Amino acid sequence: MELQLYNTMSRRKETFQPIHPPEVGLYTCGPTVYNYAHVGNLRTYIFSDILKRVLLYNGLEVKHVMNITDVGHLTGDRDMGEDKLEKGARREGKSAWEIAEHYTQAFKKDIARLHIMDPTIWCKATETIEDQIALIKALEEKGYTYRTRDGIYFNTAKFDGYTRLSHQDLAFLQEGARVEKNPEKRNPTDFALWKYSPEGVQRQMEWASPWGVGFPGWHIECSAMSMKFLGEKLDIHCGGTDHIDVHHTNEIAQSEAATGRKFFNFWMHGAFLIIAGGKKMAKSEGNFLTLDAVIEACKIEPLAYRYAAFQTHYRKPMEYSEEAMMAAQNGLQHVRNQVRTLLDSASPSKVDAAYQEKFLQAINNDLNMPQAMAVVQDLLKSDLAPDIKLATVFDFDRVLGLDLQSAAAGQTLPEEIQALADARLTARKEKQWALSDQLRDQIQSLGYAVQDTPQGMKVFKP
Ligand code: AMP
Ligand code: ZN
Repeated sequence: MELQLYNTMSRRKETFQPIHPPEVGLYTCGPTVYNYAHVGNLRTYIFSDILKRVLLYNGLEVKHVMNITDVGHLTGDRDMGEDKLEKGARREGKSAWEIAEHYTQAFKKDIARLHIMDPTIWCKATETIEDQIALIKALEEKGYTYRTRDGIYFNTAKFDGYTRLSHQDLAFLQEGARVEKNPEKRNPTDFALWKYSPEGVQRQMEWASPWGVGFPGWHIECSAMSMKFLGEKLDIHCGGTDHIDVHHTNEIAQSEAATGRKFFNFWMHGAFLIIAGGKKMAKSEGNFLTLDAVIEACKIEPLAYRYAAFQTHYRKPMEYSEEAMMAAQNGLQHVRNQVRTLLDSASPSKVDAAYQEKFLQAINNDLNMPQAMAVVQDLLKSDLAPDIKLATVFDFDRVLGLDLQSAAAGQTLPEEIQALADARLTARKEKQWALSDQLRDQIQSLGYAVQDTPQGMKVFKP
């Protein structure tokens, strides 16, 4: 069955075909490691994880590259303001290198807890400076760059079709540019390829270059790293929708200007996680929640957030609420309980072809996860034999990534105990501590143990 994916470039769904089958080159713009990722960021990485798993489910191989932005991302996307890493270092009284290392590890821990598969290649901006310099040199030789007092800039007026991805109106951009005005820029959309270290200041992260000591602009790293590690397999490049107008637009301009060839075939973007009132969750808005904060506030386990993300199509905004998180926890628990009950009487045998077809139809229709979850529910409710249901749901789990096999290896709680456990979860959420204690006593009196752990409440037969 054909895999249809929405391409931001053409603004429509297209049939996906790898350039060099069966391998697909996939590049995901990684985190800027000056602070913890928030659950909005993580929604985008769950989206790209589903994309990758769907490619694998379709029998393709995936070479997945993810960068770590550990230098050069300024506080303003249009090359003004401070380097986020150096700023983070000052805030925490650590070196920029320590900040990068700390938040990189925190990010890796978060994605592991969400069952987001590791990329084939992790790469850091600071480890590919030579490649970035080589790319800037190529642009310079072709006449796309100019020098200002603070760095080397890309002249966007020289690149035909600069707004091909964003479909933005350039006159509108001229207006918007008033906010961060750099009088030496020839066009408001021009962007820094290399920035000099400020005079008299020694930055913690700086390198010698043909243009002077300094550091690369943010966009150049993704062009250099995707070409270095994927070669010609420039199949799919993805990130959040905020990357369309500036970051990805600039990546395309500088890459195609340097090589004279098409950069990526598919551009895919995940919509925002928003909070009540429609505001984007963002570090700069001060309204963000880390995964740990959500686990703590909603008393859920990390995988419940992954499950919650499946309820909204990736191109639609997803609204964050504690109620939605708790509902996802219950939903996940319910699926596990159904699988456990099946395992009490059967072992997985053969995948049901008709259900597999329905599931494939959903995921191959631009990763329609809400639809795919409906197929999972229908399957579990169906009157298929338990051994077939099990084989089929475990097969779907290659995409869902909920680890149903090992979760199901645990115990099945009797319905009465499960109901008490659910009620206690709600009581704790509503801070009804007396009721929560009473429910715990009740569960214990029926011979089950209750433990409150950082991963949430555990109820089991001791
Ligand atoms: P950053 O670490 O800021 O470079 O962001 C990492 C990824 O998260 C990028 O792909 C962003 O587009 C994405 N992102 C940022 N804010 C949100 C949000 N509220 N919802 C979904 N994705 C987001
Ligand atoms: Zn990028």
